[in-house]
Amino acid sequence: MKLLEYQAKALFDKYSVPIQRGVVIDSPEGTEERINAGALRFPVVIKAQVQTGGRGKAGGVKFAESPAEAAKLCRAMLGMDIRGFKVNEVLALEKKEIKSEWYLSIMLDRYSKAPLLIFSPRGGMDIEETAGTNPEGIAKVPLDPLRGIQDYYISYVMDKTGADRQYRAQLKETAEKLYRLFFDYYAMLVEINPLAVDEQGLLCALDGKVEIDDNALPFLPDIAACRDKLQEDPQVVEARRVNFLFIPIEETGNIGVMSNGSGMLMSCIDLISQRGMKVHAALDLGGGATSDRIAEAVRIMLSRPRIDTVFICVFGGITRCDEVAGGACMAMKKAGAAGKRLILRMEGTNKERAAELVASSGLPITVAEGIPNSVEAIYEYHN
Ligand code: GDP
Ligand code: MN
Repeated sequence: MKLLEYQAKALFDKYSVPIQRGVVIDSPEGTEERINAGALRFPVVIKAQVQTGGRGKAGGVKFAESPAEAAKLCRAMLGMDIRGFKVNEVLALEKKEIKSEWYLSIMLDRYSKAPLLIFSPRGGMDIEETAGTNPEGIAKVPLDPLRGIQDYYISYVMDKTGADRQYRAQLKETAEKLYRLFFDYYAMLVEINPLAVDEQGLLCALDGKVEIDDNALPFLPDIAACRDKLQEDPQVVEARRVNFLFIPIEETGNIGVMSNGSGMLMSCIDLISQRGMKVHAALDLGGGATSDRIAEAVRIMLSRPRIDTVFICVFGGITRCDEVAGGACMAMKKAGAAGKRLILRMEGTNKERAAELVASSGLPITVAEGIPNSVEAIYEYHN
């Protein structure tokens, strides 16, 4: 789950990473009063709160000299579309005068199987460009998770990038706080870009990005509460309500895959992709494939207009295949399913009876044996 900037900064504040004073504005009414009530020192910076970076380049970061100007900018920004996200909230912050913009992050690195510390004294909006044209300007080091931030990590990243050593103690302190946050909140990423060096030579987080592992949300009520403010995929929300996991994959794909287990889901997606086709979304049914639940899952899948083929792959021991087939038929009948096809692969009790049920239904459902044959059936339908 990706937090909004002000939600990320609330966590920074909890770990006493320095941030600017600010107020969140969530409606165009009484904007000026609210800015005045925040008693902000001017000038201020007005920032669109959306779950994407690159706001500066997309018109989502503006400066204002007076409360009236700030209010006007807030009203203009609310409702705006920034890189596909609607702006429902803006953040007004006291503008920092700064000497330089650094980059600091810790991410979970699958390759080194460790938290990776990334630092650059050339941060800010052009960090991606720095990564491309001047990779020596960015240093990365995998952290030993049991030791956390050590002096030598900080020395290494600063020396490698030619950063001014006088900020060493401050950078270490900031990295330590960030690491504790990363650890305590099961984060996949905590990022400060820019981490500004202000006129007094103090570090301050001007921006904040935090991504939390969704699987940890049951332990993190404060983060789960943040979810209400986020723009989530409607099918993800709908599926979660009934305890399914819906995963959007490729926007341009038109196949929906569902299975009772994430490992098998991934195998199915791999095999479909290898055959040159694209999966639009996957759905993990979890345990207990009753006909009602299968029907509900197929309905959710088919509510994505792009999906024309649904592949159900259920591998069960005691799972009743006739239940699975019954649910699939029910959903296809309800959907009216013109131009839609369902490929059904199942293992378990009453497999033969299930196949008969499908055959006698007259619905556009193909029963296939094993995953490779199913993939071929999907391919045939598509070509
Ligand atoms: P992003 O483009 O979505 O990453 O948004 P940021 O919050 O990082 O803002 C983009 C850029 O605006 C930063 O890299 C800074 O150059 C500038 N900026 C944002 N806030 C301030 C501020 O308080 N003071 C100054 N001087 N510049 C700021
Ligand atoms: Mn930024």
